[in-house]
Formats: sequence, structure tokens, C-alpha cells
Amino acid sequence: MAKIFQATHVGKVRRNNEDSLIVIEPKIFVVADGMGGAKAGEVASRTLVETVKNFLLKTPPPWNEKILASAILTANKKISDLARQNENYSGMGTTATILSLDEKLAYFAHVGDSRLYRLRNNFLEQITEDHSYVETLVRRGDLTPEEARVHPMKNVLIQAVGAVEKIFIDQANFPVEGGDMFLLCTDGLTNMVDDESIKKILQTAQNPADALIEAALSAGGKDNVSVIVVGVD
Ligand code: CA
Repeated sequence: MAKIFQATHVGKVRRNNEDSLIVIEPKIFVVADGMGGAKAGEVASRTLVETVKNFLLKTPPPWNEKILASAILTANKKISDLARQNENYSGMGTTATILSLDEKLAYFAHVGDSRLYRLRNNFLEQITEDHSYVETLVRRGDLTPEEARVHPMKNVLIQAVGAVEKIFIDQANFPVEGGDMFLLCTDGLTNMVDDESIKKILQTAQNPADALIEAALSAGGKDNVSVIVVGVD
């Protein structure tokens, strides 16, 4: 059995919450951070989680990384079709980070700058890479991670579901260990709260999802913030 906590908040500045998240019982977890004018971001992220859910419910297990990636591809088509059919939705897109657990393995598929973290033996590791412009600069050595955190273009994505011609989906699996804790979150958390503080909250909070949201809000809450925390027994 796993302990699951989830929470989302519009934040202190924005008027709409363009994030969507879903827990598909028993052990699939999805966060999505939509973008686009007016309400398009909300439509994109909601379409993502609903399409992924419908796809997975129709697909027999194991829900491995290939299946998760197929679910994202299906959502990609649906979102880009919607964007083509309605000019209010033109250019909309969403991040997608999906984690699936079975007895032995963790599988993930990922597009964008939402993140999957794993806390294991008091070590917090960011499992996913951000598909952002500044992250490419960091990897090339042109920016330090500290510079990237405050860079004016840090919100520019190079990959988004529904919004680019051809999406590239990161996908992999790794063995699960007892005591592992997983965090899926949107950038409304990671732009406000550093990894060290996230780790402390995961280690100590009664309800880590609520505590992470609270930390993002205390730090300014400049963006929508969504988190799912999964503790493996
Ligand atoms: Ca965001």
C-alpha cells in the first residue's frame, strides 16, 4: 500500500488555476500545467489528464513507460485538434508528468517542466529533466542552475503536449524500494521553494502535499501550484 497526498492551489497572483492533476487508482499519478491565452491553459491540462485517464482505463496492465507515453501521444493529438478547431485555443499546450507504480518498478513518462522527484535514503533526486530553454543552456554550461532559477526566459518550454509539431517524450523505469517517496509537482512549487526545503517538508510534514502548497504560498505563490506525494511502504 502507498500513502497518497494531493493538493492544488491557484496561488496568490493568478486568477485561474491552469494546473490539473489526477490520481488513477491504484497507482498512477499525473500532473499537468497548461499554457495558452484566456482559458486555453485550463482546457489543455484538463484534456491531458482526462485523455490519459480514459486511455489507461481502456488499457490492460502493466502500465509501463511505453503505455504512459502512448497515453500522452493520444492527448497530444486531442489537444492539437482542439486548438485547430477553435481559435480561442490556438497555441495552447500543457506539460505532462506521469508516474505509474507496481510491486517492483516505477515507470514514468514526461514532457515539459513539471517534475518528478524521488526521496530515497534522505537523498532527494530530480528524476525528470525540464524541457525548458534555460535548462538546455544549463546543460550546455552557458548558465548556472542558480542563474536559471531567475532567468527572464525560464518559463519558455521547448516541449509541450499539444503545442509543438512533434513531441519527444522522456520515458524510463527503475526499481522501487520500500520507503521511497515520490513527488510530482508543477513549476509553481519549484520556482518558489528550493530542493532543500522540499526535502525537509517531505521528511517531516504530516500532510506533505498541504505543507508544500503552504510553503509555495508563503514564498509568494506567484503561480498555480500542484503536488502529488506518494509514500511507498
Ligand atoms: Ca506553472
